[in-house]
Amino acid sequence: MTSRQVIHVLDPGVISLISAGEVVEGPASVVKELVENSIDAMASRITVTLQSSGGTVRSIRVVDDGAGMSPADAALAFTRYATSKIAGIGDLSVCTTMGFRGEALASIGAVARVSLTTKERGTGPVAGTRIVFEGGETLLSEETGAPDGTTVLVEDLFFNTPARRKFQKSLQTEIARITGVMERAAISNPAVAFRLVHNGRERLATRARGNLSDTLSDLYGKDLVSGLVPFSGHHPSGEFTGFIAKPAIQRPNPYQVFISINHRPVISRSLTAGLRDGYGTLLPKDRYPVAFIDCSIAGPDVDVNVHPAKKIVRIGREEEICKALADAVRQALRGENLVPEPDAAKSAVMGSYSASPAVAPAVHEAAPPFSMDTDRRLRRSATLIRDTGPGEPVLPAYRVIGQAMGLYIVAESEYGDLVLIDQHAAHERILYEQLLRSPQGERQELISPLVLEFSPQEHAILAGLIPGLNREGFGIEQFGKESLIIQAVPVVLGRSIGPAAIREVIGEFLRSAPSQAPGERERIVRVVACRGAIKAGSACSVEQCERLIAQLRTAENPYTCPHGRPTIVSFQGKNLDRLFGRG
Ligand code: ADP
Ligand code: MG
Repeated sequence: MTSRQVIHVLDPGVISLISAGEVVEGPASVVKELVENSIDAMASRITVTLQSSGGTVRSIRVVDDGAGMSPADAALAFTRYATSKIAGIGDLSVCTTMGFRGEALASIGAVARVSLTTKERGTGPVAGTRIVFEGGETLLSEETGAPDGTTVLVEDLFFNTPARRKFQKSLQTEIARITGVMERAAISNPAVAFRLVHNGRERLATRARGNLSDTLSDLYGKDLVSGLVPFSGHHPSGEFTGFIAKPAIQRPNPYQVFISINHRPVISRSLTAGLRDGYGTLLPKDRYPVAFIDCSIAGPDVDVNVHPAKKIVRIGREEEICKALADAVRQALRGENLVPEPDAAKSAVMGSYSASPAVAPAVHEAAPPFSMDTDRRLRRSATLIRDTGPGEPVLPAYRVIGQAMGLYIVAESEYGDLVLIDQHAAHERILYEQLLRSPQGERQELISPLVLEFSPQEHAILAGLIPGLNREGFGIEQFGKESLIIQAVPVVLGRSIGPAAIREVIGEFLRSAPSQAPGERERIVRVVACRGAIKAGSACSVEQCERLIAQLRTAENPYTCPHGRPTIVSFQGKNLDRLFGRG
């Protein structure tokens, strides 16, 4: 960007070619657009301050020390399709700024009360400009004293569109999203100091020491950074750089896969898939790595003009690039010692466990003797069975034939159907209902309390969940800015649930599809039940299978596990007859 920016309204012809759309979905998208403007203005310091009350974000203030605007530019900034970043459509392929459509300020100003204060950098002791813009109209434009740079204050978002206001997410989710936006911006711009403050509390701060690994340790702490492997590689249109985590660091969904293309944070399913491919069998099927990857791609091979919020970009030669990513990841991991180090904080966790014989360390879950353990656990869950009262169990009676693939119970129903029962899913369902019925979960105090570090986004989610987690048996307290101290963990059927379950719970809350999401307690209990249930792969005797089925028959909803997957699949006798030509 030139030091002297001039805003102009794009030609109608250009406007019709750019991918327009709604950019203001909620507070997080306002933060994203304003922070991107500050980055485009070459700011070295960007501070976002949020005020919330009554469960909603009331105001968002973004302060930068960037290029600022002249009075003439400021007067045009809220005009739709007014931008200083491109002139014609040809500029798009060489456009390196985050924005280019001239839509954001206009869109935000249409649905909120906005005040913009700006002064052009390096103009000395002249006045700045203040503009108040509300519901699509300029209410005030005046000279004002101001430091170099720009401050935008957004209040009463959606004040004139009450229907939109109703669709806002919970405050906790919204703050987590905003934190996520800031994390992404900070990772893509290690030379900029970012700060996020919510109701006076600092949620995130980076110090702009200029390299990515310093920014990552500002955001995530040294524990995570020490588990990262530097990463680089070539692909047909450019190269990759960044860091990937050793496979021991895993997440239940891709919320810590940070991919940017030419320093623009993007969401790319295909690159995420390429990344997981590179880990191959080092990563379980349903787990995601932690990774911070920038992919540079030469101009003509990337099109940013496909998504209104520019989160998705179109990449030429995508397949080849994804394959190159997988190869480069494989290569980077090959040279690494992937066994977790004994002095790492994670093994301190294990250490404090093994000190207590009653509490088996999570990593030793598969230790023998399987069936005795299974036995003990099934016996315990039987004692917690619900009194079904006069009502009949929903399921018919079954005769167990045996266990197949270490996972499926094979049985015949009283109606002559052949059924397969997923032993893990079934046990999960039983435990889930039992745990939901009990007012307070059983707990085990840890011999030495653990301090776990969380990312700013994880922390935003966790802060509101501590009482709920503690009710299920955790003993968690806030400890410093981004850390929690864990003093106790839940015990389910005599086995303790490791603190790693906390990240699983976070994953439950960071998942997208909120429509089918149950309440907070259900989501926490779902994780605890999954951790406590007998695993796929545990050998079960016929008698153990029978006991499991007896317990499943008392469940209120025996047909699905708490995640909605089936527990029982049934093959009707007459269909089998037909298969054998007996029909
Ligand atoms: P776009 O970023 O697509 O150009 P916006 O509506 O976000 O559109 O901003 C309009 C114009 O206002 C920008 O092109 C830029 O010239 C100016 N502007 C907005 N925010 C800032 C800022 N923080 N510092 C300097 N200039 C800004
Ligand atoms: Mg913009």
